[in-house]
This record gives sequence, C-alpha cells and structure tokens, in this order.
Amino acid sequence: MVQIGVVMIKPCKKCGSVERYKNGCCAPCAREYNRRWKEANSEKVKEDYRRWKKANPEKVKENARRWRKANPEKTKESSRRWRKANPERAKEQSRRWKEANPEKVKENTRRWREANPEYGRRWRKANSGKKNIPSDIEQDDVLDDEDSTELIQ
Ligand SMILES: [Zn+2]
Repeated sequence: MVQIGVVMIKPCKKCGSVERYKNGCCAPCAREYNRRWKEANSEKVKEDYRRWKKANPEKVKENARRWRKANPEKTKESSRRWRKANPERAKEQSRRWKEANPEKVKENTRRWREANPEYGRRWRKANSGKKNIPSDIEQDDVLDDEDSTELIQ
C-alpha cells in the first residue's frame, strides 16, 4: 500500500516550504544549496572532472555506457543535440562507426524499417534506386563508446 500526500510535514524553518525529498531534506533549500555550491565551485569541479576523466578513461566509458542504458531517451536527445552542434564530427564519427559495425547498421536499418513501414514505403518510392534510408534517422541508435562522454555532461 502506498500513501502519497497524506504524510504530515512541518514547513521548513528557513523557507516555509513543505516540499521534501524522500530523505527529509527541504527540496527548495536543497536546490538552492546545490545551485550556490555549483556556482562557487564550477571551475574547480570542471577541472577536477577533467583530470579524473584523463586518469580514468575506462571508468568514464563504463559510466557513459551505464548512463546510456539507464537513460535511452535522454541519450537519443543528447546525441541529436550533439550532432546538431558538431555536424562535421558527427559525420566522421558515424562514418567510422558504420565501417566498424556493418552488421549493426543492417540491424538498425531493418528495425527502423519495421518501425516505420509507411515512411519506408514512401521513401523508397521517392528514392527508388537508392538502397539506404536517410542517414540522419538511421543514426539515432548508432552512437557507441567513442566521444560519448561528451553526451553526459
Ligand atoms: Zn526550505
């Protein structure tokens, strides 16, 4: 049985809010605290993180992999944004990835066609003679390890 919204909460002494995290902390105050802390430490945090990444490339990759697995929608959105901001690198990355993963490319294409039968028919009709689906669509799932750490920042 789950009860939500019936627990009595004392208003926060600082800000009077009753919005709490599960651990009991006042949510607005915690957010404010985090914001200030980041503001005060942003350069140091970035620098620390840069150094840590350099010293732990394997962990960075592993973290990125795990994060992508746990956040497939955010991953897609991030990669879309990244490709938009870095079209040349995205093209190069995609080309290299395709070269290294011909089987996955086939599989992605097949899955995409299955998921978009209408679009596929129309597209093939309009582009008869060409074999591949539009590359910007096919790339949604292709980002792999390389450069992926940029996506989680
Ligand atoms: Zn508060």
